Amino acid sequence: MISNKTLSKLRKVLDPGRIKTDAISRSAHSFDGYVVEGVPDAVVFPTKTEEVSKIMEIASMDRVPVTARGAGTNLSGGSIPLKGGLVLCLTQMNKIVEIAPADRYAIVEPGVVNADLQQALSPLNFFFPPDPSSYSVSTIGGNIAEDAGGPRCLKYGVTHDYILGLEVVLSSGKIIRLGSRNVKDVTGYRPAGLFCGSEGTLGIVTEATLKIVPMPKARRTAMICYADLDDTAKTVVSVIGVGIIPAAMELMDNTVINLIEDAMQIGLPRDVEGILLVDVDGAEESVDKELAQIVEFARANNAKEIKVANTSAESDALWKGRRSVYGVLNRLSPTTIVEDATVPVSKIPAMIRGCRGIAHKHSITLSILGHAGDGNLHPCINTDTRDKSEAHRVEEAIKEIFQLAIDLGGCLSGEHGIGLAKSPFLPMGMDTDSREFLSIIKKAIDPCNILNPGKFA
Ligand SMILES: Cc1cc2nc3c(=O)[nH]c(=O)nc-3n(C[C@H](O)[C@H](O)[C@H](O)COP(=O)(O)OP(=O)(O)OC[C@H]3O[C@@H](n4cnc5c(N)ncnc54)[C@H](O)[C@@H]3O)c2cc1C
Repeated sequence: MISNKTLSKLRKVLDPGRIKTDAISRSAHSFDGYVVEGVPDAVVFPTKTEEVSKIMEIASMDRVPVTARGAGTNLSGGSIPLKGGLVLCLTQMNKIVEIAPADRYAIVEPGVVNADLQQALSPLNFFFPPDPSSYSVSTIGGNIAEDAGGPRCLKYGVTHDYILGLEVVLSSGKIIRLGSRNVKDVTGYRPAGLFCGSEGTLGIVTEATLKIVPMPKARRTAMICYADLDDTAKTVVSVIGVGIIPAAMELMDNTVINLIEDAMQIGLPRDVEGILLVDVDGAEESVDKELAQIVEFARANNAKEIKVANTSAESDALWKGRRSVYGVLNRLSPTTIVEDATVPVSKIPAMIRGCRGIAHKHSITLSILGHAGDGNLHPCINTDTRDKSEAHRVEEAIKEIFQLAIDLGGCLSGEHGIGLAKSPFLPMGMDTDSREFLSIIKKAIDPCNILNPGKFA
């Protein structure tokens, strides 16, 4: 429990209206997209780096746990203040500080919403490639701390590929600046990268210098439908295997297709077993050629129907369905668990077959979607955590799904992070010495373990 003494110190550095201790504010910051909750003692809303620094100085002196928070859309429990203490909510630090197209960078505060950055870049014909499906609400700080991916990360890479520099407040309150504004910079180690994917366990990102990319001249979208999910998966392997890298290649199974159609009526065929949603982008002359090659592979893998979007409105409608998936899955049951097991692309068919077998064995409801082009699958489980017997079967199934991913040469998370959800499985994916190395880093940077304690590090 946070002491009155700590609270009065905080009131000296932060406008009292930016320190919330009422039950509603605490409860509103006690959960994210995972199934566990943890109520903080107080929520603070700094507006500048110096305030973050002073908050951390006080927290460090008084040994108060601090959990950074953006939009709270994390799916692995990383934003849950498991040990109480302070939630440090960065949504009020939401300024786009500078956009420099000629130098290919944008400087932003951590609370900038991904979509707002995209909107600011669009008239300049630039974009920021990481596009998590939560992009309309999730923050750049959260994207960095989770090393977020998204559909078009297949071609363009994930968040860590776009970090040029970071300003970080350490647990002691010290402010450090890592990297620079240069797209090439090999000054010493690359410590900015260490904070990318660190899930708020090493420092608070208070400003980021991001690499931005010129918008491709042309884009085409195709929806490819299959009577067999295995054929859907095999097409992904064929396309990537010959060196065609679409901008995005998303897979959805029959359950997901029907849920989207129930909710949105966008004309998806209800009777197919799998859909691939494919985007290609680049020069006008190359996109049609690339799409034609993909269509050829789709036909060779028994595609039943292929629809190419003729207008950007048609393409946006197809993507709207895909981007709404988590919302529509929530209509199926009180609890939706979105897993994040990732395998090498060639193992996607085996992974999908294996997940379905595991679901059948444990009698649970599982659907499959994911950024198939980079092997990042999201087996989704619909359940009700109040049903203890089912909850136990779900737990067993999840364990088996991750073991399967590891056995196939995959990993525990492609983009949602380890958080609370996957901490127990860490020994499956990392040996003792390698886990010890993570602990050494954590102890060196946050010696009192006040930053997001109880999580993976
Ligand atoms: C509908 C839906 C779709 C999603 N789709 C995708 C997807 O396609 N790809 C993907 O990668 N993820 C996806 N996610 C997961 C989630 O949106 C991302 O991880 C996102 O990056 C989290 O951003 P946030 O602002 O919500 O961060 P939060 O959830 O608030 O925080 C996430 C983690 O970052 C830490 N953190 C937040 N801000 C800072 C900061 N400034 N400094 C240090 N640490 C910080 C927190 O402590 C926490 O550990 C999805 C989630 C939902 C609900």
